[in-house]
Amino acid sequence: MNTAPNLASLVVAVDGTSGSGKSSTCRAVASRFGLRYLDTGAMYRAVALWMLRNGVDVGDSAAVAARVGEPRLATGTDPSAPTITVDGVDASVEIRSDEVNAAVSPVSAVPEVRRRLLEEQRAIIGGGGIVVEGRDIASVVWPQAAVKVYLTADPAARAARRAAENGGADLTATQESLLARDRIDSGRAVAPLTMVEGAAHIDSTDLTLEQVVDHIAELIDERTSASAGA
Ligand code: C5P
Repeated sequence: MNTAPNLASLVVAVDGTSGSGKSSTCRAVASRFGLRYLDTGAMYRAVALWMLRNGVDVGDSAAVAARVGEPRLATGTDPSAPTITVDGVDASVEIRSDEVNAAVSPVSAVPEVRRRLLEEQRAIIGGGGIVVEGRDIASVVWPQAAVKVYLTADPAARAARRAAENGGADLTATQESLLARDRIDSGRAVAPLTMVEGAAHIDSTDLTLEQVVDHIAELIDERTSASAGA
């Protein structure tokens, strides 16, 4: 029996380190195949932003856990215009601030935060037809994803790209911020960043965005139309 997914039910899981190009890659892949796009990092960032705005000590996991039910989040899935609102107000710019960069990994390590967002992420993924980026998509959120990618790049390349996106921000500080998040994300007890068996590891250090997108497109073709004829 042919069990290959069609595009309408396909889930593409893309995990990897901070600043490895996941967002640009996933948006481009989703647009090319007419799929939806979910940025789970934006959801964690939105919760961290809410905690900061409401005076919660983000280093105090019990304090974060106590308030995790309060933020109202809405996440759009259009790859050409991803949106996120917190308590009804657009937060797409503020979730990228230095303050949120520093707060998001400790907030994401709180099990109650992960439990809440896991449920919301699974509800958004629903029947599929979506590219999902994060740290624990293939390991926890959607282990049955037909396409699993683990995207990395050298820290210097990641920092250079991220600093350029942020209008020439300080390279050393940018690299330190990325590596600090990687350390916390990889070392936490619940759903740490990890590459699962069966994931395709793509190191984007010396690749263009187009090359990474083409690589993932080949994986999608293999798992869908090509295998559908098998
Ligand atoms: O992908 P992005 O860099 O925007 O993610 C911000 C942070 O959100 C990560 O450093 C990590 O702490 C957290 N995150 C997570 N699990 C995910 C996605 C993001 O813990 N699936």
